[in-house]
Parts: sequence; C-alpha cells; structure tokens
Amino acid sequence: MSGIGASVRIGVLDGDGIGPEIVPVAVSVASKALRRNGLDVDWVALPFGRSAIDSHGSAAPQETLTALDELDTWILGPHDSASYPSEFRGQLTPGAVIRKRYNLFANLRPAKALDAARATTPDIDLLIARENSEGLYADRNMAVGSGEFMPTPDVALAVGVITRAASERIAREAFTWARRRRGKVTVVHKANVLTMTTGLFRDACLDVAAEFPDVEVSQEHVDAMAAHLVRRAADFDVVVTENLFGDILSDLAAELAGSLGTAASINCSATKAMAQAAHGAAPDIAGHDVANPAAMISSTAMLLAWQAQHYGDERLMTAAAQIDSALIATVSAGVATRDLGGTASTSDFAAEVLRRL
Ligand code: ATP
Repeated sequence: MSGIGASVRIGVLDGDGIGPEIVPVAVSVASKALRRNGLDVDWVALPFGRSAIDSHGSAAPQETLTALDELDTWILGPHDSASYPSEFRGQLTPGAVIRKRYNLFANLRPAKALDAARATTPDIDLLIARENSEGLYADRNMAVGSGEFMPTPDVALAVGVITRAASERIAREAFTWARRRRGKVTVVHKANVLTMTTGLFRDACLDVAAEFPDVEVSQEHVDAMAAHLVRRAADFDVVVTENLFGDILSDLAAELAGSLGTAASINCSATKAMAQAAHGAAPDIAGHDVANPAAMISSTAMLLAWQAQHYGDERLMTAAAQIDSALIATVSAGVATRDLGGTASTSDFAAEVLRRL
C-alpha cells in the first residue's frame, strides 16, 4: 500500500484511573504532529471501561466494538477492572475483550531512556516482543471459560497454553523487527524446568530463526535474563518471549530506562494496532494531575509508526519521529513528572512537549 490520503481515523478509548488525564495529552500531541505533516485526524471517541458501565451497562459496549471493526488503529487508556462493581469483575477485562476480538497477538514494548541522566541503565535500548494471546494469562488462553480455576477453596490451578503457531507468529514479528534494528534476537524461556511448554516456545522460535540467517540469535532462561538486564542490558536488541515473562521483563526494562510512566507499547496483528501504555491505571495517583503522560504519548507515536509502515506513508513516520524528539527534548531540558524525580504536573509536561513540537 502507499499513502493514507489526507486524513487519518484513530479511535480513542480513555480508560480508567489516570487514563482520562493522559489519553487527551497523547491526542493533542499526535494531532499537532500530524497537522505539521499535512495530515488531518478524525479522532473517534468511543465509550469503554468504568464510564461505559454507567452509560451503557457494559465495560465493553457492543457499539464500541462495532465501531472498532471499522478502524485499524486506536488508543486505549489503562483499565482498573478490579474497582468495577462486583457483577462486572468476573468478566474479561475491557482490554482483553479487544485483544481477543482482533487477535492482537504481538505486544511490542521498547525500553530506551528518554534522558540518560534519569535512567538506572542509561544505555538500555531494546524491544521486547511479548506473545500476547496465550501462556498463563487466564483472560486470554481459553476459547470458553478461564484458564484458572479452584477445585476446592484451598486449591487453585492455572493452565498454561503454548502453541507452535502462536510462538512462530511472535518469533517472525521479533525477527522482522531485529532486521529494522541492530539485527539480534534473544529467545527467553525456562525450558530447563517448563520443558514442554516453554521448550516448545524456544524450539518454535529457533525454527523461525532459520528463516532469518542474517539475524543473530541467542537464548536465555528468564531468571538469568532478569539478572543480565540489570547488569548488561545494552547487549540486547530484540527479546522475544512468552506472555508472563514478557510482562515482567518489560516492567523491569522500563524502570531501568527511567520509569514505568515512560514505558510505551502497542498491541498489534497484521491488520490492526492499538496503542496502550505498558503501565496500568495507577489509581493511587489518579485525579491529581501528577501522572506521567510520556508512555501514552510515545505509545501513540509507535501507533503512527505502525500506520506508516502499514500504508507506506512517510508523513506518519516523520510525525512519530517528531513526537519522540519532542519528548526527549522535554525530559532532557529537566521537565519531569514526580515518577522521574521532578515536580512537573501532567498538564505542565503536556504543555512543554507541545511547545517543543
Ligand atoms: P496493571 O496490572 O494494570 O498493569 P499494576 O498493578 O501493574 O497495573 P500500575 O497501575 O501500572 O500497576 O501502577 C504501578 C505503580 O506505578 C503505581 O505506584 C503507579 O502510581 C505508578 N505509575 C503507573 N503509571 C504511571 C504514570 N503514567 N505516571 C506515574 N506513575 C505511574
């Protein structure tokens, strides 16, 4: 495909907790960057999450899902489903409803310092390609029912699902990204203990490696990988791993790079992509104008970069790069929210990023 035309349509789902504070910031920043590159944006606001329970009687209203069917990209704020009224708590989380419906199998989570001075590991620059559709995650590894259950009140079991098809699919994504980056993939597993499940994951990834002879491949056990990230993160480029390991390692990598508040991510398939910060709804700080909007802003930049690749449109790639540069310039100039050791509010930070665009 080449070119997206004169305007872009992107869905906006605000989310819970700090979502309504950080998602509008990402929307303003992306609007300005796109306008600068000659593109209009049609933001399609859709009800979802806690507010949709009040307005539509469901955290994931059908009208929102029907609207998403027509879109290929959207921004999803974080959800705090643990705080929903009890009758909604046993249901799939709103994010899981979307990931399942559109089979967003790849969760791509980069870790790179916005400002070296504020990072524990200033030279970290990696991309975690996390398998997003199976593993031990009970909200996504079953077609019907949950992958966790309790035969008695004192016994709890969880089903871990690893398939060759899903492992190969995320491995191809990881190796493709490695070609665009520094040409290295590390396969992370625990095949010495979980021999069948994560052993199958490792084997499937190594089979895919044979299709990418130009990419250097290595493997690590997940526990060793956690230690290596702390000691020598700069040695790693793309890390491919199953769902739970990827969730944990990406939070570790995010903190090494600065703060969870700067941790971007997208969830994608070959045809749809969703920007979703790697952090949660942070209910402890919601409503105080102190949340760091950087993760949501750079997740949105990743979304534009995904669109740029999907449609072969340079203007979107330029807008994404300009957003990243404005973020780096803002933090490097000393503008930092509380999580980064500064005193800037969410709105101060937003104004500074917009000014530098
Ligand atoms: P989830 O399981 O939904 O990812 P979580 O339980 O891991 O959520 P978070 O909501 O991510 O938890 O919050 C973890 C900590 O990080 C909290 O102390 C929270 O305040 C902080 N935090 C998360 N996001 C941000 C942000 N954007 N800005 C500042 N602090 C944040």
